Amino acid sequence: MSISKRSRSLRRAALPFTALMLSLSSCGTYTVIGETGVVQEPATSAEPAMTEGTVQQTEAASEAPETTAAPEFENRDETVYIIGENINVRTAPYIVAGENSNIAFSANTGDEFRRTGYSDSFSRVEREGEIYYISSDYLSKEKPEIPESEAASEEIAASYENGAEIGLDPSWTYADFSVINSGKAVLYKATGNSKGITVAVNAGHGTKGGSSVKTWCHPDKTPKVTGGTTAAGSTKAVAVSGGMTFSDGTPEATVTLKAAKLLKDKLLAAGYDVLMLRDGEDVQLDNVARTVIANNMADCHIALHWDGDGLSSDKGCFYMSTPEGLKGMEPVASNWQKHHALGDSLISGLSAQGLKIWGSNPLPMDLTQTSFSTVASVDIELGNQASDHSDAKLQTLTDGLLAGINIYFGQ
Ligand SMILES: [Zn+2]
Repeated sequence: MSISKRSRSLRRAALPFTALMLSLSSCGTYTVIGETGVVQEPATSAEPAMTEGTVQQTEAASEAPETTAAPEFENRDETVYIIGENINVRTAPYIVAGENSNIAFSANTGDEFRRTGYSDSFSRVEREGEIYYISSDYLSKEKPEIPESEAASEEIAASYENGAEIGLDPSWTYADFSVINSGKAVLYKATGNSKGITVAVNAGHGTKGGSSVKTWCHPDKTPKVTGGTTAAGSTKAVAVSGGMTFSDGTPEATVTLKAAKLLKDKLLAAGYDVLMLRDGEDVQLDNVARTVIANNMADCHIALHWDGDGLSSDKGCFYMSTPEGLKGMEPVASNWQKHHALGDSLISGLSAQGLKIWGSNPLPMDLTQTSFSTVASVDIELGNQASDHSDAKLQTLTDGLLAGINIYFGQ
């Protein structure tokens, strides 16, 4: 992928964070509505064929409103609540096109803040002694009802014992796309300081026989828009690939499991419930099954990987973002912004630990996981086959992931 395509796609990715209603329908490309951004892509039938690494381009990315002028605030002293999902909570009262750098975390319906300043565009708010800025359109003085789905995930987790085995329920949406699903995920519950948040940790690979059967890449059975383990244009991909081998001969699946267990312990200690999608060397759950279980049992889904890029030096961490060509397909269209918010949070957490971040992070990739996810979902690559995967390094990486998860959930 060329540098210019890459920077265009990054600018494009930031567009939906605009707080203004913006219609670019004259360009025939997309419509962005509000801070959460509903993006409507045109029908794909007229699109040119995708080739490996191609990112679907849209014009007018530079037309995003841009201002760094702080608004005048009227003094207020009142409690306000978030209305909407994945609303950006910022460290400065403005939006810069192409940059998400002033986004501290995202907030959801019912989250409470103290408002100290009001303007038509942004409100100045306080939480736990910190000052933030949120688009005034997404704040209300009246306490809203918590959406059923959120309340439900907490309730579902509460109804299981610590260590409960969770299989794929065939009645769940997309469950029938899975071909390997006799295995079980395991739910571990925090004791004492539970946050009521469940994190699905997916130790990448580790399904015996996973590469000898295939699943549809997309729920609408359209072809893949980027390359990867499976080439662009394919409609089916291996159910679970074998993973790469580190230059010292260690299989990727061994290291992802080790990291997943370390992350599990840190999450539990911090008060998160943890759904281990693979809790041992082999789990008979394919990528679709793991994703559908996470959709129904967890608040986010984090898959741990190291990249098999053939490089002989450590490239650092990055996450797989949603390619433009997938942003019009459900359930991606309704969820990709959450995926990116989670990915950006994880990278911030890793970076704060002093870990190297790959210069081209994030990498748009058409993954089965992304295509079927209805909760915030990320494939994070913690390095490549040349990376140090010693116990000490895995400790630092999982500290970074925990910090990133805390950022995402505003903890
Ligand atoms: Zn992998």
